[in-house]
Amino acid sequence: MSVMPGISRQVAAVQSVLFKAACPDCRARFELAAGALRLAIGASRRTTFYSFTCPECGSAVRKPAGERIVELLTGGGVRTLRLHSSV
Ligand SMILES: [Zn+2]
Repeated sequence: MSVMPGISRQVAAVQSVLFKAACPDCRARFELAAGALRLAIGASRRTTFYSFTCPECGSAVRKPAGERIVELLTGGGVRTLRLHSSV
């Protein structure tokens, strides 16, 4: 008789992990799914950053990631790359 909104809402919640981001080049603001982001964890804070491609202008954006951002991204299922410094 009636639809069960509880079920569809739960499914949507799982799939809608979005991260707000902004492009420094074209200043566009958008939301990215976890699969559109990449996180690189280096030996130091300087080499720890996340990157994505701007959906508006297509430029590759790279931003430093603090501890809080790292936690947020890894918790949201973003691919994490651990860099081993050879220098
Ligand atoms: Zn852009």
